[in-house]
Amino acid sequence: MAVFKPENVEDFYEIGEVLGSGHFGQVRQVSERTSGTCWAAKFLKIRKTAGSRLGVERSSVEKEVQILHTVQHANIVTLKDVFESRAEVVLILELVSGGELFDFIAEKENLLESEAIEFMEQILEGLGFMHSKNIAHFDLKPENIMLSDKVSPHPNIKLIDFGLAHHFHQGEEYRSTSGTPQYIAPEVINCDPLSTAADMWSIGVITYILLSGLSPFQDDTNEGTLRNIIAMNYEFDEQCFSMTSSMAKDFIQKLLVKDPNERMTAEECLLHPWIKPITRKQVAKRNRSSINMKNFKKFNARRKWKMSYNMVWMCNRLVQLQLLKGSSDPDPLQRQCESDAEDTESKPASLLRRRLSSSS
Ligand code: ATP
Repeated sequence: MAVFKPENVEDFYEIGEVLGSGHFGQVRQVSERTSGTCWAAKFLKIRKTAGSRLGVERSSVEKEVQILHTVQHANIVTLKDVFESRAEVVLILELVSGGELFDFIAEKENLLESEAIEFMEQILEGLGFMHSKNIAHFDLKPENIMLSDKVSPHPNIKLIDFGLAHHFHQGEEYRSTSGTPQYIAPEVINCDPLSTAADMWSIGVITYILLSGLSPFQDDTNEGTLRNIIAMNYEFDEQCFSMTSSMAKDFIQKLLVKDPNERMTAEECLLHPWIKPITRKQVAKRNRSSINMKNFKKFNARRKWKMSYNMVWMCNRLVQLQLLKGSSDPDPLQRQCESDAEDTESKPASLLRRRLSSSS
């Protein structure tokens, strides 16, 4: 079991800029006082009482920490240390400074399928490793697929955010309705027992978007998106997929399969001819096909816009709440941004809760 150190994190690390925010707090760059090495610190506000709806339960943080300890792999963010105070737990994580994969790709003029596959392969390596340990991520989406650095021409993929991840124990039946509508598998919506195959569905959705700039099940409303997933209502739009190889479509089709037992596993994906071509013809096909960059850029711009819109919406909600409470302390307000706003919603289901941070 990982040690939650009772010392003050600020005695060991100098706290720097905000790198991002999640449901339960912020992630900030920190610098280790002894060495000057930079890390990312994820501050998680802990729920004070069982009845409270603010913050995250300590047991959930223990779960995230335990999983991060188990999944040490080149394509998965590393956990260095954990600090705990009365109000929060701080995870000291490897600093992933290359930004999101989708942003990196969106800056390019064009990208061949073979280049996109280099990233897909790394995602699958990381995921395959987790799955071999019976751990599922359950929140795979573009925001959680980052790159190691900005300087290298071939940065490494780093999977982040293990807040919804689960370690399956033998014979265990696990159900959860958490996730982000655009990317969740039908069995999540149906509240069926889950397995690592739910992650493979998300890989199918992410690959579909990466190649076409379209989101396969997205509707104007989240309810509509969920309905489309259940109905398996998707197709390959001829125009948007005009530059896509048939192998890539086959890859996606073998992931967007309703029955989780029939879906390709990460290991099988790594052997699919789109990822690992055997014949020269297959190699040539990948090199002739490219991603629909014009559409992809549009998708990514919309995604970013929605993320910042959600953030502003939630911060405004908080300001209103704080004004109502008559509080004038700005710092806790900033910390609570996102996490508490989301918890003030009356919708109970985690599926609906997650919508607030989703880009659907
Ligand atoms: P969510 O509410 O989306 O589930 P969360 O509370 O679990 O989020 P994370 O997704 O882990 O938090 O982190 C939030 C954001 O902080 C990320 O989207 C990313 O931008 C940034 N971030 C997280 N971990 C790191 C890291 N190790 N290095 C750099 N940035 C990071």
